[in-house]
Amino acid sequence: MRPRWTTSVPAVLITIAIGAVQPVQATPADQQILKDRLSFRYVANPNQNPPADPEILNNESIIAGTFEGSFWTTSGIAVLQNLVKALMADRAHGGDDSLQEYARLVTDLTRKPVLVLLLNDLQPLNATMTVGGRTVKVAAHHWGAWIGAGNRVWPSARHNSDDSPWAGQMSLGAYAFTNNSQWGGRARKVNATFIHELTHTQDASHRRGHIFSIDRRSYSYGPDNVHYTNEAVPNRAAVYSETIADAMAFLYSSEEEQEYFNWFAANDALVVEKTEPPASLRDFWLYNRLQAAGVAESPIRNAYSADMQARYAFYRIRDLPAELMAHNEMIMALVLAEFTRHVGDPVLFDALGSANASLRNVSASGMAVLFEEMCRRAEQMPFGAGSGAHPELMPLAYADYFTAYRATSADEFNTIFERMMPPSRVAAYWAVRDQVRRDAPVSSPPVWTDLTNVAMALGVRESLVNP
Ligand SMILES: [Zn+2]
Repeated sequence: MRPRWTTSVPAVLITIAIGAVQPVQATPADQQILKDRLSFRYVANPNQNPPADPEILNNESIIAGTFEGSFWTTSGIAVLQNLVKALMADRAHGGDDSLQEYARLVTDLTRKPVLVLLLNDLQPLNATMTVGGRTVKVAAHHWGAWIGAGNRVWPSARHNSDDSPWAGQMSLGAYAFTNNSQWGGRARKVNATFIHELTHTQDASHRRGHIFSIDRRSYSYGPDNVHYTNEAVPNRAAVYSETIADAMAFLYSSEEEQEYFNWFAANDALVVEKTEPPASLRDFWLYNRLQAAGVAESPIRNAYSADMQARYAFYRIRDLPAELMAHNEMIMALVLAEFTRHVGDPVLFDALGSANASLRNVSASGMAVLFEEMCRRAEQMPFGAGSGAHPELMPLAYADYFTAYRATSADEFNTIFERMMPPSRVAAYWAVRDQVRRDAPVSSPPVWTDLTNVAMALGVRESLVNP
């Protein structure tokens, strides 16, 4: 099932022209734009120290359908070869039009090139070296790779500072994409992860590291510094960064979105790390706060391993207070993706561009800034003029829906946005909130048509498809 309009409401198709660049002349194909934005570097032996120069893939030749160099003849890394073809080749040679379109849209945020490091980690990347008296992995030091389980690359990305000619860089390995059950070599899953990581390379928002770093350790995701997609993590700035990356992956692959809609619909588990943080971080600790609020753990924990139960508390997602749900990246990504499916991609990308600029080096609430940008753009949309419709409140209504209408006051509702949404915007929504909730309840279980009902409750009766 694809999450789109599915009721009998007539879908009026309108081409919209808000924000996004729609030049009069035909644009070059996404391929031609991506050619200058994605620089692929193949590292055949990441254990080597000092390192050899990586092989720079020839994008022109890939576009021409010829594949030159050792990257293309190495066996066991088909998953990386297919990813590059999907991004750069034409359809006859494995190109994926939709992936290319989203990669182009995402990189429009900075319009700078991205360094894509493709690491051959078929052998474990266990070689070490000493740097400043500390033992570090060679592949991590030289290539910025995140070395995960079994000394293999775990996909990761970072954004560079303004003075860099590069928007950012990412490190991808063949092993996890091929063997980890999360991907299992499936191209669509791998491509969705690429879009997720690519979004990180563009994201200039402030991560609040100064608050969550103690003794050179980051507690943004909790003491284990790992985030599960069904975890509520302490640092809302980190939630914002993951949310926008997840939303882009959802837009590219509705299968990804379906997976998390199913999770929400099943009222499945949300996990919260239990390990006690350093004293200075106690106020941020979600587990302490849930305990103080008397929120009991769910027996759903019994379905998980003893190890997970020891480290995490388990709750059913829709039973939690709205603020807690908003500490989860997938809940907020569902909100962004559903809003976007009802208003078209340009609205979100344009809002994201503005949010990205104003969040640079500023520790504001990313979520509040982005949502206000989304509201402003929806306000200018051509539907419902003079009809009493409130398209500008759709972002808030979807946030209310995906937090299961748990907020009981306007002030509590604003905790979804760290209490930083303009109060007038929240008040405007709260004035129609009862009607939204009445006309668009969360079905039992939730179904996609609920989302259409949310739009209709605000008088928005037209579907806008992506132009
Ligand atoms: Zn991420």
